[in-house]
Amino acid sequence: MGKFQKKFNEAETVFNFEDVILLPGLSKVEPKEIDLRTKFSKNIPINIPLVSSPMDTVTEAEMAIALARHGGIGVIHRNCSNEEELEMVKAVKRSESFIIREVVTISKEAKVGEAAEIMRKHKISGLPVVENNRLVGIITGRDVRFTDPSVTVSEAMTKDIVVAKPGVTPEEAVELMKKHKVEKLPVVDKEGKLVGLITYRDVALRGEYKDATRDGEGRLRVAAAVSPFDLERAKLLSKYADALVIDVAHFHNENVIEATKKLVKEAGVDVVIGNLGTKEGVLDSVSRIDGVAGLRVGIGSGSVCITTEVTRTGAPTLFAVSQAANALEEIDAEMPIIADGGVRNPGDIALAVAFGASCAMLGYVFAGCKESPSPMTIINDRYFKLHRGMGSQSARQKRMAVDRYAVLSKEIPEGTEVWIPYKGEVASIINEFASGMKAAMGYAGASNITELQRKRKFAKIISKKEKVGISINQLK
Ligand code: 5GP
Repeated sequence: MGKFQKKFNEAETVFNFEDVILLPGLSKVEPKEIDLRTKFSKNIPINIPLVSSPMDTVTEAEMAIALARHGGIGVIHRNCSNEEELEMVKAVKRSESFIIREVVTISKEAKVGEAAEIMRKHKISGLPVVENNRLVGIITGRDVRFTDPSVTVSEAMTKDIVVAKPGVTPEEAVELMKKHKVEKLPVVDKEGKLVGLITYRDVALRGEYKDATRDGEGRLRVAAAVSPFDLERAKLLSKYADALVIDVAHFHNENVIEATKKLVKEAGVDVVIGNLGTKEGVLDSVSRIDGVAGLRVGIGSGSVCITTEVTRTGAPTLFAVSQAANALEEIDAEMPIIADGGVRNPGDIALAVAFGASCAMLGYVFAGCKESPSPMTIINDRYFKLHRGMGSQSARQKRMAVDRYAVLSKEIPEGTEVWIPYKGEVASIINEFASGMKAAMGYAGASNITELQRKRKFAKIISKKEKVGISINQLK
């Protein structure tokens, strides 16, 4: 046998979602009892295994907020300036904070007219009144509405204020507010200094989204994409974001690994690395970078990705998950694996999880939703939204995309642009995916993700089911 033939015979078999099936197993649970809790990165638990892609037609603040409220997490894209990305991260963190830390205040010598102006400008309905940082009163919309604007704040404010201590829990805060019929609860430390503010709206929202992904202060969690070579952006973002995601098409690269090593040291938050596709890639990266918090895997399977067509290289997502899981097992390391690219159905995620992933990253599925930042159009009386690869010609025209997919000599697009059917609010898609995953786990006889990984049984597919007829949806 020739050398080439031998090499060919020994080649790995790659596979993806459509090549494998999860086999049914003895089930003792009903789908609705199934627990989908998992991890995004070492220190970030999530309640459903759904993450949104850092793409400029998928994840900006609105999508990240919606995903976190429903138990997943969004990764803000980096195809914009440092300030724009930071602002999006801050918008997520601000959206539902349990305790507001950057409180807008006023001094007691100021005039009521000024207080009214500040409330209008910040769209808020009350201001704590402070003197040398110490809380001396509170002035609300009602106080200013019926008072002459030239009167001083000290005359119009309420002096007898209900306050909370810094360690207050959301439940205690609600109880205090109900008991005293107030909607704002200043948080005051032992010295009487104002350290935060709790509003009824924010604590009430917590009740509405019980499964939300939140940080220790009750704020929604969010991750942000960065280039490994942009230390300045990483440092800026890490002050607010819960995690950073290294966003390069091919992580297994000397320069990328070296740069990431430095970045992880400086970041101070969880750093997820990727994209990786092979066992060697994972072993090289994890052994050389101290403190990796997660792996984003899959190369070339994305819906708007043409890397494999253009370059005939890649690592299909499910194959990449199995490679990463094997690598971690070999070095006895544990960290979340994020399956990225090509997910269309809930069963794809169930498969990825069964192969060792903790969660999946979705672009296409979320791009079609109301909360995605992409434009909408009407074609033949039907609504469509735009989805484009971050390595597509138009995305690359924006500066940051160049970092990811076009390194000098690599001047060829690796992504396309498509119009995809509008799917409505992301909440209903998330529900659909959660139910679908639970159904899959029910068939596999697993009541949670760890059990699925323990009990998993697969089969290879060699005969594909042929579709008959035209679906009713296509006719609509
Ligand atoms: P989807 O869920 O749309 O199938 O895949 C989303 C993933 O595709 C992203 O998270 C990212 O890893 C990958 N991706 C996004 N844009 C491009 C691109 O232009 N080229 C390639 N090769 N991959 C892309």
